[in-house]
Amino acid sequence: METILFLTHTEADGSLSKPAQETLAAAIALGHDLPGASLTVGLVSAGDAQAAADSIGGCGASRFLAVTGDDFATARYATDAAAAARLTEAAGATLVLAPGTSRWARCLAGVAQRLHGRADTHATAVAVEGGAPAVTRWYYRQRIEGVSQRAERPWFILLEPGAGEPWQGAPAHAALERVPVEVDERLRRTAFSGWRAPRMDQQTIRPEADLLFVAGAGWTKKQADGQAHPADAARLILGFLQLAQASLGGSKSLVDLSGEGQAVLPFMTHLNQVGQTGSTPRHPKGLATCCHGEEPHVVGWRFINDRRAINLDPNCGWARGKADVLYVADAFAVMEQLNQFLAGKGQTGAV
Ligand SMILES: Cc1cc2nc3c(=O)[nH]c(=O)nc-3n(C[C@H](O)[C@H](O)[C@H](O)COP(=O)(O)OP(=O)(O)OC[C@H]3O[C@@H](n4cnc5c(N)ncnc54)[C@H](O)[C@@H]3O)c2cc1C
Repeated sequence: METILFLTHTEADGSLSKPAQETLAAAIALGHDLPGASLTVGLVSAGDAQAAADSIGGCGASRFLAVTGDDFATARYATDAAAAARLTEAAGATLVLAPGTSRWARCLAGVAQRLHGRADTHATAVAVEGGAPAVTRWYYRQRIEGVSQRAERPWFILLEPGAGEPWQGAPAHAALERVPVEVDERLRRTAFSGWRAPRMDQQTIRPEADLLFVAGAGWTKKQADGQAHPADAARLILGFLQLAQASLGGSKSLVDLSGEGQAVLPFMTHLNQVGQTGSTPRHPKGLATCCHGEEPHVVGWRFINDRRAINLDPNCGWARGKADVLYVADAFAVMEQLNQFLAGKGQTGAV
């Protein structure tokens, strides 16, 4: 019989993140499908974790455990690993489900090693096959989907954010059990010195956005008048991102140009690159502009449900079954009108 530990850290304000709620929903569903399984919640928090525990108090867990204290306020391998190991032991967990946050991704493989267990990261689903848990994940840049099972325990499974629906139950009082973790100076050798993040108006990658807006190299190419118009391109793209609150992706050709220091779209970086050697973001909708839609790029659209593209070329890759709708049009003209329309309606985030 499996004992499932839903393991998560709280956010800075003491709440639970959406990826944490998604993982909780997966842990509950797994518990339902595994005969005789029990569910324990394990929280790591700087505060007392009571509000976080109460927010999921109605989830049906039999125990609520918490490691708390200032030492657990921010990500640090040594203290996070110690907390996760103690919670796993205290719960007697055989399966540990945690959201695939950078904080857990950094340390849970090490915790599995310490406890003689195993870890799987980037899981997109956990289900029961043949009476035992089975983990689904993608391989080879999302081209192959694999399902695997393991005999070793404890088995740590990090669930990819955005792969499932978040838990939505009623809050209820949770009887929290404190799990002590001894933190000495050895564990405190790494100190958190602060955040360094781009200004909010420079933040172009928004994983929670409804729309992925992809810019391709066409934005920097000579247009019908024989000239390139990078300033107009930057104005149109940034204007649209602001109005639609969309997330910005780019083709490899475009981000490579920016990386070479040319005076083109300086806000594009390799972090924006979508595709085989870039990212595979998850958004309900995508709009590609001035991007040809070649396979190494489109493979990054695996998890974009509704795909549209604007391209001058009716024979571009998007026209060959890669998009739901292709607008054969000049993206400069279309985006100019679209931005005017959105600004006129005052519809921020409404695309
Ligand atoms: C091993 C390997 C890995 C790769 N990995 C990636 C990857 O991760 N991501 C990626 O993106 N690529 C990747 N590529 C490169 C990929 O094959 C393409 O070369 C790249 O995606 C092309 O970028 P693009 O469509 O922006 O540029 P282009 O191919 O230059 O296309 C520009 C498009 O803009 C259109 N256009 C121009 N002006 C306008 C206008 N006014 N209005 C509308 N449309 C206009 C043109 O018709 C054209 O279709 C990889 C390639 C290899 C070999």
